Amino acid sequence: MLVRTGGHWSGRSGPLSVSGLDRGRSGHAGLIRSVVSANKPDQSPPIFDAHLDLAYLAVRGRDMLAQVQHRGEACHLEPHPPSAITLRSLEPTPGDFGGVRMALGTIFTEPVESVENVTGPEQYVASDVEASHRAGRAQLEAYLTWRDQGLIDLDLRRRLRSEPGTGEIRGGMGVTEPAALAPERLVSRLPPRPPLSIGVLVENADPIRSPDELGWWRERGVVAIGMAWAKRSRYAGGNATSIGLSDLGRALVSQMDRLRIVHDASHLSDRSFDELQDATDRPVMASHSNCRALLGDAADQRHLNDHQIRRIVERGGVIGLNLFSMFLDSAARKTGRASLESCVRHVDHICEIAGGRSNVGLGTDIDGGFAADRLPQGIDRPADLVRLFEALRNAGWSDRDLFAFACGNWVRFFNAVL
Ligand SMILES: [Zn+2]
Repeated sequence: MLVRTGGHWSGRSGPLSVSGLDRGRSGHAGLIRSVVSANKPDQSPPIFDAHLDLAYLAVRGRDMLAQVQHRGEACHLEPHPPSAITLRSLEPTPGDFGGVRMALGTIFTEPVESVENVTGPEQYVASDVEASHRAGRAQLEAYLTWRDQGLIDLDLRRRLRSEPGTGEIRGGMGVTEPAALAPERLVSRLPPRPPLSIGVLVENADPIRSPDELGWWRERGVVAIGMAWAKRSRYAGGNATSIGLSDLGRALVSQMDRLRIVHDASHLSDRSFDELQDATDRPVMASHSNCRALLGDAADQRHLNDHQIRRIVERGGVIGLNLFSMFLDSAARKTGRASLESCVRHVDHICEIAGGRSNVGLGTDIDGGFAADRLPQGIDRPADLVRLFEALRNAGWSDRDLFAFACGNWVRFFNAVL
């Protein structure tokens, strides 16, 4: 249990306490302790993972209720084994892993050119609006079924919103009501069962047939939308294109803003990114994106350039660290796995631009189209994320900073924007 070696979660603060949690919220140290050690002392912080393709894995045939492997054992669930994620794998482990307690679960769909190219249930012919809708609905059904079975809570919006008359006065996000609650308090309010609260993130908006039906999706748990995946959608251009927003995309942006649905900039083309920022004054997040400046290819739009990081941070947005090794270190094309230190470099790069540690969290993308042996060294399953926390601790991160990274920054963000 490496997480215990470098000072305990309930212990001292490190020398670099500059996160939002540390600015003017010093009275919450005791609450952090009680949240972190709700089950056992020395347990790692609870995690908010802003990008897990849970429904995609389910419609591809994975048994999401399968028990997880023990540490060091490979797990061979389809698709693309070795694998890491089932619903069980996210649960807390007493005395060790605080569990993934909150997540954005995606509805991931992919347009293809023709019927012959459709090889999976997440795919549809690009011109076929009804087929894209059916593909997205099938994944939404997975979340609704898990909710009905008591396996997940599908009401992240209610969980993370403040009730009127509580908490502190909110500032800086362009939102005045209701007042903000400290992330520690919001996390402490989560019920122990079901262990996982999910907000649905639509990754590629094509399944939404028209902006008019957005309310229907919102009622069923959708809290965020990325308008395109790598390719072009009816709404925007993805990171493999140079296309911007369509008229339909601009209409969707307005409707999202009316319904307080969050914009996800991961996967947008640079042009779409800029046009989205101009079309909305709401905060924008990047659910699972790393730093282009550290990856050596200035033209690779899959990663955020420094200008984009700055624009996200300026409005109080948060960026989720993606754990696909090739998105952390271009040398991993040969070596297969990035180091934990490379994760720390990306996190620190975002923090340097932001001038603090309040705008970065996790958006791991584990099992999201790549095998678990392409995760960083030492991470083979969600419980191993404690090793990433330990690497950050070794780089000078305090308990408060780690709580903010593990969940607090996302919780604060969603408390403000939902
Ligand atoms: Zn993605």
